[in-house]
Amino acid sequence: MLFPTAFIPPHVEPRWWERDATSPEPTRNVTAAEHGQCPTHVKYALTCRQFDRLMARADNHCEACGSAPENSRFGRLAIDHVTKLGWWAVRGLLCTACNAALHVGALGLPRFREYVSNAFYLTLLAEAKVTDHVAEPPLGAVVLDAGGRPWRREQPARWPWTSEHRWMPRHRRYPQAPETWEWLTSRNGPHHLRVDRIESHLIPAA
Ligand SMILES: [Zn+2]
Ligand SMILES: [Zn+2]
Repeated sequence: MLFPTAFIPPHVEPRWWERDATSPEPTRNVTAAEHGQCPTHVKYALTCRQFDRLMARADNHCEACGSAPENSRFGRLAIDHVTKLGWWAVRGLLCTACNAALHVGALGLPRFREYVSNAFYLTLLAEAKVTDHVAEPPLGAVVLDAGGRPWRREQPARWPWTSEHRWMPRHRRYPQAPETWEWLTSRNGPHHLRVDRIESHLIPAA
C-alpha cells in the first residue's frame, strides 16, 4: 500500500465565510477546531466571525429558556431563523423545545418577547445600515453576493418573449439559471449584497 502517511493539503485561499469585512485576517485557524461544521452556519449566510459572536451571545444556553444543550436533540442548540425572510435572517440559538414551539406559532409566549426583539439578524442589518427590504437595483447593475460572486440584472437571452429582467450569475461559464431579486436577497441577506457597478450598455436607449 503506497498511501502517504501524512496528507498535506494544497494551499487554498480562505473561503468567504472565513474572512470578514470587519477584519482582513482570515479566521480559519482560530475556528477550525471550534466549529468544524462551517457549512451549517454558511447555510445561514453567517461568516465564522459572525457565528462566533452568536455563540458568545448565547453562552451555550438556549436564548429563550436558558436550557443547556444537553437537553436538546443531538446535544446541541438549533440555529433559529425567520423562514418568511430567508435563511440569512437568524434570530438566535434555541433548544429543540423552543425551536419547535416557534414552529407552531408560540411567538406570543413571554419567554420569546425579549428574544425576538433582540434577533441577531437585526444587529447585522443595523451594522450594514440596511433594512430587511432592499429595492432592486436597475437594469445593468452588477451585484456581488455574500461570496463576492457577480450577478447582473439583464433580460435573459433565452426568454425573448418576455420583458422581465432577471439576475444572471456572471461567475459561471455558461450562465443558464436566471434568478429573481427575491431569491438573491433571501439566499444572501440584504446586508451581504452590494452593487459593484452599472453596465450602462445594457440599458436600452429611450
Ligand atoms: Zn465557521
Ligand atoms: Zn429553550
